[in-house]
Amino acid sequence: MKTYLVGGAVRDKLLGYPFHERDWVVVGALPEDLLKQDFQQVGKDFPVFLHPSSKEEYALARTERKSGAGYHGFVCDFSPNITLEDDLSRRDLTINAMAEDDNGDIIDPYGGMNDLNNHILRHVSPAFSEDPLRILRVARFAARYAHLGFTVAKETKDLMCAMSDNGELSTIAAERIWVELYKALKEQSPAAFFTVLLDCRALHALFPLWPPALNTAVLDSVARAADLNMDADIRFAIACSALNVDHCKILCSELRASNSAAWLAERFSANIPLSSLSNNEEWLALLEAFDYARRPQHLEAFIAATTLLIPEEDRLGQLQLAAATLRDIKPAEFIAQGFNGPELGRALRAEKIRHLAELGCGV
Ligand code: ATP
Ligand code: MG
Repeated sequence: MKTYLVGGAVRDKLLGYPFHERDWVVVGALPEDLLKQDFQQVGKDFPVFLHPSSKEEYALARTERKSGAGYHGFVCDFSPNITLEDDLSRRDLTINAMAEDDNGDIIDPYGGMNDLNNHILRHVSPAFSEDPLRILRVARFAARYAHLGFTVAKETKDLMCAMSDNGELSTIAAERIWVELYKALKEQSPAAFFTVLLDCRALHALFPLWPPALNTAVLDSVARAADLNMDADIRFAIACSALNVDHCKILCSELRASNSAAWLAERFSANIPLSSLSNNEEWLALLEAFDYARRPQHLEAFIAATTLLIPEEDRLGQLQLAAATLRDIKPAEFIAQGFNGPELGRALRAEKIRHLAELGCGV
């Protein structure tokens, strides 16, 4: 029995990029051999184990063969005669198909080192097309490594285009898409995720409403938001900002977007230039739509993102000041004056409108 470090840890070590988990492959062993050494089995469909002390994942070397349509149609073979090279051949990209033995030597049967040095995301074999989730993974790796100069190999892009065009993507569960998308949004170059998916028509196949709303200005703003370290919900909301509200709602529901991301995206897609707010009631409605009192960070996010999306918008400072002023209105003071029930609500509202007028909002 022999054990090798595989996958992301080998790739990131060679790249000098930080990594947070290590995956191992075990060659020449039966499940019983690992169970005898107190490994704990976690995989249902194939034997993956947790190391008794490090809790890192150890998988028996295996091959996978597609059988039938859909995501679950894989047959695994994890008999002890499966070689390391067999196991590496089922992996998505050459840079993910390298292993390191316990002497620190690299096993690289598919040219991963060369592609790593040349900054190329290239599929290992035509079996890539058996799992459409790999398209999203490639786009996510592009988002992670674009700043290092990584691009998708021409033949991989061609294969991804063909997969998108023949309807493969419809077999991916929406939850999986959201997981990949959200991970990609957190990466250094989230705009690259969208660019890769647009280039191979995957986004057209998955969410036809979205591509027309991902114009250059929107993608540049997503990139800027990442440069400014804005959080993933804001990056997502910016990516949705050129959709109309109805389309945004459809997209968020199809994507199974988290509540917080969908909430913010809907507000961004309703994004009205502040100059079109003609009276104090409309200013108050916008502030309340952002739940300015309870979720100040969302209004901050809107202001920061609008600065990117609409550089000529010159009333953002006023919006910020208005929110801060209204947050200082304390219901307790009105209650102390004897207001309650609907009357309290009316008095508070009148006070807010009065402050907005004083600030010169609704002109
Ligand atoms: P990360 O740094 O995001 O963890 P990773 O490359 O380690 O990146 P994992 O999802 O942890 O990605 O998977 C570990 C390895 O398993 C990958 O490097 C790849 O070799 C293989 N792998 C994972 N998912 C797939 C897939 N859908 N198709 C083919 N190979 C895959
Ligand atoms: Mg990993």
